[in-house]
Amino acid sequence: MPLSRYLISFPDPGRPGSAILYSTRKGSMVRVPEGVLAAARAGSLAEAERDLLRRLNIWTDDPAAERRAMAGLVDHTNQRSATFSATVLLTLDCNLACPYCFEGHFRANRVMTAETARLLIGHVQREHIDQGRDVEIRFYGGEPLMAVPLLKEIARSLWDAATAAGTRFSCSLVTNGTLLTRSTVEELLPLGLHSAQITLDGPLKVHDRQRPFVSGKGSFGTILNNLQAVYDLITLKPGGNYTRENYRQFPAMLDALLDAGMDPARLGPVQFAPVHPKSGGHDAHSAACFAGDEPWLMEASLFLREETLRRGFSVDKPQMGVCMVELANTLVVNWDGTLYKCPPLMGWPELSIGTLAGGINDYRASHDLDMWKNDECLECAYLPLCFGGCRFFRKLKTGAVDGVDCRRGYLDEALERLVLQDLELQPRP
Ligand code: SF4
Ligand code: SF4
Repeated sequence: MPLSRYLISFPDPGRPGSAILYSTRKGSMVRVPEGVLAAARAGSLAEAERDLLRRLNIWTDDPAAERRAMAGLVDHTNQRSATFSATVLLTLDCNLACPYCFEGHFRANRVMTAETARLLIGHVQREHIDQGRDVEIRFYGGEPLMAVPLLKEIARSLWDAATAAGTRFSCSLVTNGTLLTRSTVEELLPLGLHSAQITLDGPLKVHDRQRPFVSGKGSFGTILNNLQAVYDLITLKPGGNYTRENYRQFPAMLDALLDAGMDPARLGPVQFAPVHPKSGGHDAHSAACFAGDEPWLMEASLFLREETLRRGFSVDKPQMGVCMVELANTLVVNWDGTLYKCPPLMGWPELSIGTLAGGINDYRASHDLDMWKNDECLECAYLPLCFGGCRFFRKLKTGAVDGVDCRRGYLDEALERLVLQDLELQPRP
């Protein structure tokens, strides 16, 4: 009867003679005297201690059953999932002209038509609401608030269909924040709007250089005013896209939010991400799940996470993370009705999984589903956080989605520091 394989342990720097055990499966952690850890490894743990560790998923009575449970976890989740989630790209149009944005070159007139919206509403109603599922739509762009009438049409139709079927509809925005006025939010609240992910690329000077209006004027002041005006109505999730040259300036953006009187406790988690290299035409500055494993990227993400926590803002904890590609009830709908499994993959038409008009194709082989169901991954302590890594990065690095994008190097370096950050700085529930 051993310790769980989905576990890391390390000496507690704050308490000599103690160790920290952290379950990657449950996110639970405990401090124990090093003697207890040694006894656990030797199989001579007292029953009371074993029981405590068992309740934290740090001890397992049946290692083979634990491995089987992990191997079946995604299938189990897919079978029981009661919610359908879609990211819907309404338009490529945008009122900003960010130098790193892929869409600037070809965004004109790339707007979802009424016919495509009708197909989308029909698909969601038929395949999900009528099957008893709740629906969560994340409106995306370009800038989704450049297409408010279309957004409202889709949200209202799905709200009505869900209400009639006794399920729930809700929606969120991925927005640049410039059009996120109080009156617009008040219009969308009755249609299920609950949150908005907004982008501030650092403090005023850095942001205005990276995210100017099409006219060339800076957008920082407009966004900050809007955030102040709406943050009591919906959950705002601030984020930003940093580079190697400017990431150290990003905490000043959080200071600007504090100076504007915003209470971090009323905001959602802050999520900074590096500006990624462009994929097959798209970049993924706001969508990729991982930061990448170059040393500077790891230092930047840990630095920004710590500075964010120190200012009282929340961040995501390390948590079980399955790639959206593996989840059956998720979809990305492009403005033209083509379907994908993840926003950054929209850069590669060969990774489309179908269309609203023609239906969803079998994508098991093209997207290498279950690529993590191998002995190395199933025995890996990081499996619950990784599940074989990111298909977008795999495609960027190798040109194909044909295997794992191993996170071991990154997690070997970073996980202990993330756990210690949370222990010291993350607000307790
Ligand atoms: S491919 Fe998967 S892991 Fe990578 S960004 Fe997309 S959803 Fe996230
Ligand atoms: S891809 Fe690498 S880090 Fe991820 S579960 Fe497999 S072996 Fe572990």
